[in-house]
Amino acid sequence: MTKDEVRQYLEFYRDLGVKSVYRRQASAPIERAAEIRTAPVPQITASSPQLTAPPKQIVVVPPLEPAHDNLLKIMEDIGECKRCRLHEGRNRLVFGSGNEQARLVFVGEGPGADEDAQGLPFVGRAGQLLTQMIEGTARKEGIPLSRPDVYICNVVKCRPPENRTPQPDEMEICGQFLYRQLMTIRPKAICALGSTAAKALLGTKDGVTRLRGKWQQWRDIPVMVTYHPSYLLRPYNQNAKKEAWEDLKMVLHYVYD
Ligand code: SF4
Repeated sequence: MTKDEVRQYLEFYRDLGVKSVYRRQASAPIERAAEIRTAPVPQITASSPQLTAPPKQIVVVPPLEPAHDNLLKIMEDIGECKRCRLHEGRNRLVFGSGNEQARLVFVGEGPGADEDAQGLPFVGRAGQLLTQMIEGTARKEGIPLSRPDVYICNVVKCRPPENRTPQPDEMEICGQFLYRQLMTIRPKAICALGSTAAKALLGTKDGVTRLRGKWQQWRDIPVMVTYHPSYLLRPYNQNAKKEAWEDLKMVLHYVYD
């Protein structure tokens, strides 16, 4: 499509009162979502039948893989993002934190209340547990590593209301930024915390119990799926805690040995 065709198409939707459009593939992992360009759509004219029966799907337009991308550019591109409904309830957007050259990236689901208040990922109780897990396991295994050495971010950058699970369209829209973060950092491994992160990265419906303990892959980067720390905080999940520690041990040895 030419720029004029895209403009014409979007103006058509604007005139119908549609404020945002996107192409939805609910189960698309972020790799595929980020590849979405624009859908082939017919030219629309005043006499076009589309004026009475508009096509249901179009695309839009995520920024994709700009040359010489880096975290600062991605942050600038996000800006005061209103690309999905999650912006409505956020206090602060939570981009991610840690080492831009990290060899290991942790990907969670989305910010909670503490993260939303501070603008930083994993700073609440679950975040403290994650820090303990990273630093405690590294210490026990003789690996000199602390939390600032890794990079931590989420699939969606704004807090979902009532901490609900992000919806597929929100994950897809925001996933473009996660995609760019991962492509920029290019870690040696990714640790996906919980089933939402696993779904976003791997496009799978399998739960953590099925996926954990063995390597998966996002592009050419190995991915270990394990339990989200907030799940491990529940008192009846002692067994999951042990498994998460085992997963983390495997990841740390793979990345830092
Ligand atoms: S969740 Fe992501 S896409 Fe949605 S408003 Fe926040 S930054 Fe934008």
